[in-house]
Amino acid sequence: MPRVARRLLAIVPDWYPVPFGVAVVLNQLADDGIALPAGFRALIVAVFLTAAFTVAGRRLTRHRGRGTLLGLAALFVLLAGDEPVWLLIAGAIAFVLLIDLRAARTGGRAVPWARVRSGMSALGVILVVLVTLPLIGSPTVWPSAPQPPAVAGGTAARPDMFVLLLDGFGRADVLASYGYDAGPFVADLEARGFTVAAHSRSNYPTTGLALTSMLNAAPIAALGFTDSTRLEPRHIHPALEANRAFEILGDAGYETIAFSSGYELVALRSANRFVDTGQLNELEIGLAESTILEPLMDALTGDLKSNQIRARAMAMVPAVRSLAAEVSERPRFVFVHSPLPHPPFVVDSDCQPVRGGESLFVLGADGIARKTASRRAEEIRLTVGQVGCSQRLAIEMVDGILAGAGPDTVVLVLSDHGPETRLERSDPQPDAIHERLANLFAARTPARPDLFPDDITLVNVLPHLFGAYLDVDLPEQPDTVYFGMPGVGLVAVDSAP
Ligand SMILES: [Zn+2]
Repeated sequence: MPRVARRLLAIVPDWYPVPFGVAVVLNQLADDGIALPAGFRALIVAVFLTAAFTVAGRRLTRHRGRGTLLGLAALFVLLAGDEPVWLLIAGAIAFVLLIDLRAARTGGRAVPWARVRSGMSALGVILVVLVTLPLIGSPTVWPSAPQPPAVAGGTAARPDMFVLLLDGFGRADVLASYGYDAGPFVADLEARGFTVAAHSRSNYPTTGLALTSMLNAAPIAALGFTDSTRLEPRHIHPALEANRAFEILGDAGYETIAFSSGYELVALRSANRFVDTGQLNELEIGLAESTILEPLMDALTGDLKSNQIRARAMAMVPAVRSLAAEVSERPRFVFVHSPLPHPPFVVDSDCQPVRGGESLFVLGADGIARKTASRRAEEIRLTVGQVGCSQRLAIEMVDGILAGAGPDTVVLVLSDHGPETRLERSDPQPDAIHERLANLFAARTPARPDLFPDDITLVNVLPHLFGAYLDVDLPEQPDTVYFGMPGVGLVAVDSAP
């Protein structure tokens, strides 16, 4: 064994709570199917926190053996937010410590501390190895360094392209059914050179499926996903990362840049640049919420998750503006994924904080989960508020893009799917399917007016876009739309544009 490794292992017995803390983070990462870089900050926090617990335990007990074990017990107490069983284990440790203290007072010794230390450190190391195993072989994507353009010349005429994805933004007719007038937003977009489609649709009802299909310009089934039990974001994610669009753009000399929505299972870390505005991501929020400190963090922030999603959506506006203003030798393809207006409901129409919670289904006495009439009315009100804020942020981003990147910039403002205020999960009705699949699609395509048909579906966005600007011939796909049906899975549905 190399000397460095031996030295490293030799310090483990004095710091064995640390591998336990590391194992907790790695386990969550592997469980959720989240890319390793997303856990970077959580791992650092886990190491420092468990080391601090160890130091504090030793100060408190003035005993290396008892103090280190007390540090481990502190970690278990912290983890007891979701799983109270950790409190029992911490209690058992406290019991052992008390017995040992009593024995020590009478000059005896109840616990063989040297053995505890070597045993626990072996256990900690084994745990880390065990939780790391599922990560081996799973595609882990690190943001790659910008590559030199494959095409040496000829990129000068290629415009920058920005895609603003407003997650869950409904089409104008869907919003009209809520009593909301999308007219001013459409007018704002048209004033900036956009054409807004009145009959666009998403081919799939969820983000992972819709984006993977769009960025590969292919239906999900053609990407190897035919088993409807394997359609969870964690299964789809590798096909999203290794998408056709980035490959074609790279070959055409583009730099690809993706903004994080905070939702790691739809992150595009395979872009040349991955921009994270720094708020807690999905993994970190999940870990924080599983600790006993959740009530405290919620009290300090209003609600931790809402607070972070809201902050991220707001932070994207200046970040997009300054990115657009950067001088670049290569044309850029920038994919900005806003977490709004998708639930949880965190802002009103003035972008001020609200605490509307998640989309809420209540299990009825008949065993069927549905929205109560009052909750549905409430969610329509909350959706309208969130839409109002989202469109304001979108216009601010568009103005920032055009100011920085210039008037020749191609900009798409679209959503991956619509809301789901009407859905009865056990029995999806045509109006609920329409609500979910009728998406926002607005395109600003300089020198190529009316590039997209009015009834565009997301799978055909790239064939039109790349055909026009990159001379790449991607075959058009059928505009088939799919919905998840209870007991059946994903099926093609007959939903009119
Ligand atoms: Zn979505």
